Amino acid sequence: MRRKKKYKRVLLKLSGEAFGKEGAFGLDIKETRHIAEEIKEAHSLGTEIVVVVGGGNFIRGHELHKAGLTRAVSDYMGMLGTVINALALQDVLEEMGMNTRLQTAIEMREVAEPYIRRKCLSHLEKNCVVILGAGLGSPLLTTDTTAAQRATEIGAEVLLKATKVDGVFSADPEKDPKAKKYDFLSYLDVLTQHLKVMDATAITSCMDNDLPIIVFNLKKRGNIVKAIRGDEKIGTLVAVTSSTRRRENIDAR
Ligand code: UDP
Repeated sequence: MRRKKKYKRVLLKLSGEAFGKEGAFGLDIKETRHIAEEIKEAHSLGTEIVVVVGGGNFIRGHELHKAGLTRAVSDYMGMLGTVINALALQDVLEEMGMNTRLQTAIEMREVAEPYIRRKCLSHLEKNCVVILGAGLGSPLLTTDTTAAQRATEIGAEVLLKATKVDGVFSADPEKDPKAKKYDFLSYLDVLTQHLKVMDATAITSCMDNDLPIIVFNLKKRGNIVKAIRGDEKIGTLVAVTSSTRRRENIDAR
């Protein structure tokens, strides 16, 4: 018997750092396998899962730009980095017996399908985990903004934003032991207090489209499942009110 779930369709945002060893450059297959195990367990609840993959373990466009490269070129390089993580995640998920599809916003047909919304929805209906690489395909954006945009257009009920800490804090909990964790924040709290959740474009998009965000710690086993089941409060909820569920106002078909 399948366990109870709260959400039918979720978008999971994984930063590039989740795919690597803490603070290190590149990919760690063991870490990637851990993520894949969590996704497999969450998918077994019967929830449709779309994963947006970041690339910060390889390249962040603004950092390369600071070092002297043209901004747009740096950002395209950053987007290519996300595809490396996406391919690794797809491979380990398939190795675990999952059905997956990788779609990218920059065409690279030898390794992935182009992102087509209706195809993405059809894959979900066929029980596939859909992985999205290359962000939105445009420079000057982030994969957090990608996650907000795609979550809305595919009709995800929640954006699950995986991080390495337990939620959103008043200060960096790794530096300040007095940092307070918030259970709930409104979108405006996040924007006006400049809290480090996602970039302002991503938060604004979620606010405009009434899309709740759960910020949670990926390093704690079972947290994706807990977030999806919703019977145990984890992380920080960012929404209009603390009891918000997503408005059923977007026709995802
Ligand atoms: N990027 C971009 N457009 C997008 C998504 C990403 O230009 O739509 C670039 C940008 O340079 C970014 C890099 O890809 O720094 C990696 O993405 P991100 O920083 O969001 O990865 P994360 O921090 O989640 O690992």
